Amino acid sequence: MKILVIGSGGREHALAWRLLGDTGVEHLWCLPGNGGMARLPNGECLAVPPGGLTDAPALAALGESLRPDLTLVGPELPLVSGIADEFTRRGLRVVGPSKAAAQLEGSKAFAKEFLLCNKILAGPLYGIFDSAGDAYSALCAVDWPCVIKADGLAAGKGVLVASTPDDATAFIDRLMVAREFGAAGDRVLLEEALRGPELSYIVLTDGEAILPLVPTRDHKRVFNGNRGPNTGGMGAYSADGLVAGDLEERILGTIVRPTLEAMAREGHPYRGFLYAGLMLTADGPQVLEFNCRMGDPETQAIVVRMDFPLAEALQAAAEGRLREINARWKPGASACVVMAAAGYPGEPRTGMKIGGLEAAADVRDTVVFHAGTKLQGGEVVVSGGRVLGVTATGADLSTAVARAYEAVGKISFDGAHCRRDIGATGGSGGASGASRGAGSEV
Ligand code: AMP
Repeated sequence: MKILVIGSGGREHALAWRLLGDTGVEHLWCLPGNGGMARLPNGECLAVPPGGLTDAPALAALGESLRPDLTLVGPELPLVSGIADEFTRRGLRVVGPSKAAAQLEGSKAFAKEFLLCNKILAGPLYGIFDSAGDAYSALCAVDWPCVIKADGLAAGKGVLVASTPDDATAFIDRLMVAREFGAAGDRVLLEEALRGPELSYIVLTDGEAILPLVPTRDHKRVFNGNRGPNTGGMGAYSADGLVAGDLEERILGTIVRPTLEAMAREGHPYRGFLYAGLMLTADGPQVLEFNCRMGDPETQAIVVRMDFPLAEALQAAAEGRLREINARWKPGASACVVMAAAGYPGEPRTGMKIGGLEAAADVRDTVVFHAGTKLQGGEVVVSGGRVLGVTATGADLSTAVARAYEAVGKISFDGAHCRRDIGATGGSGGASGASRGAGSEV
């Protein structure tokens, strides 16, 4: 099997690494890949066409020349730009939703209206506004804190949980007046703030069958104790018992299945990975957001626990026969610690050499996934904000976390920083191992 993986982050390295572990996967193209993907056996990095990852027709033309058996799309941008439709039109098997279905991530207004129409639990909406003046006026009638969201894609930076009207007004200004995120800020949503620990619940679906991945929790703020600005994600973990009792059945029954059924009813059948960002409130799980792809760094913490052939599952999903797949997971836990470049989440410093990668990879049950790296004269150097996702498994969360940090300790590059509290809010707990560690991630 020959597979094309689109994207260049830690998520894509993790997926590529896992796919090459499957018997039957003989070659992998990475578009464009990164320094870690460039060193994969049987992997080959290709340049992205000049139009970039939003140029769906050019990407599909490249797909047509390579004729992969399967294409897996990592990031949201090409999906929201219609890459799955273009590949399908050319008879190329692809894992990822159509442009219409990817609106669940591409437009938060679409997602919110969809949730409200279909009575799927989500935070109450104050309103959707297409002028800054209307949004400012609406602030008079909200409770605090209040959540402000850009409608479009903003790389995880288009949301603020504002404590005061001043903070809210300043953020609306950035979105709608300074237009920091361009057209993504043409409309904004004001929502009621929900409370509780968050959960990343991701499934693979062919539109009918659902294959749930192990649930994970990520850490979005840059500093320990959930302080500092939001990032793309500074770490993630999974652990048996993270979702306890009947919670998983409730998530599937009240959120995932109704979402897939309603998308099909509305004429946008959903296929691919669906990521539900959930708040586990006192009244049960509620949707904060949908993503139309796997999360980063959740993927890193997920793939290391897969105990089934991912390539086969993806192929089955693309062919509408996912029900044939029986997913098994390694018991225990996993943790991914992101090592970031100086300056991140602002403008990162790049070009520094990275040392200690081999020593880190020798730590038991640990894999170092690359994100913002590239090969330069045979050396691995920093090329982006989130540089590495150091990922480990263990019989329990504390073992997985300890292994990941042991490996982190062996890696060095100038200005490197990471959080020291990944997984500290706990995974499994209680005598039965069934209780969910209610974190304080929010
Ligand atoms: P989103 O991209 O919509 O998931 O928002 C990013 C982050 O903002 C989430 O992971 C939450 O931490 C926070 N957030 C979003 N919506 C809400 C909400 N209604 N209440 C509280 N926090 C929220």
